[in-house]
Amino acid sequence: MRSKLWRWKYERLSGVLLENLSQMGIAGEFVEDTDRVVEVVEKLIPKGATVAVGGSLTLQQTGVIDFLRKYECDFLDRHATTDAEELKSIFRATFSADCFLSSVNALTVKGEIVQLDGLGTRVAPMIFGPEKVILIVGMNKVVPDLDSAFKRIKTIAPMNARRLKLHTPCVTTGICMECNSTQRICESYAIIRDANARRERFTIILVGEDLGL
Ligand code: SF4
Repeated sequence: MRSKLWRWKYERLSGVLLENLSQMGIAGEFVEDTDRVVEVVEKLIPKGATVAVGGSLTLQQTGVIDFLRKYECDFLDRHATTDAEELKSIFRATFSADCFLSSVNALTVKGEIVQLDGLGTRVAPMIFGPEKVILIVGMNKVVPDLDSAFKRIKTIAPMNARRLKLHTPCVTTGICMECNSTQRICESYAIIRDANARRERFTIILVGEDLGL
């Protein structure tokens, strides 16, 4: 939980960011805290829609996963199975889902969405597939520029590897060792720089709190 001063800064920053996102063809909304996220998400997802999600701590922290499990929709719940074949089917079906929800690894003030992914199951459908993409972003992920975005990503990747209990060198060292591990979580980098060719596909919900890693 941030102080009042931080909240004020977040509100001011979000104003600039929302304007920049709008120039890129991306809709956005700022909510002060986590409690309001589900309310906004509910308005964006039509009842009966097929909904898929990317792996995201933010979606869990904001209660979105629990909400989708109860909502009147066809939720392709990747967290409900550990069966490899079933997971593969969910990942494939994600491309034809009506809505896809995730978070981002970093978001620049200019509005560039910066992502790091292992298998690509989170980043690929964000770029192509689902009709609507809803991204929930804690203001702690907003950075000044692309350089800062990549620095942020390099710092959080080892933390994510640790959280996922992987066997990569960064779990032990705490810093990226540029490994070639079969469990490497950072094989693909992607930057979404504009969405004007697909206006209204993306919506970003900015949350005035620290969320995810
Ligand atoms: S490249 Fe390897 S060592 Fe570096 S963050 Fe990714 S998984 Fe960890």
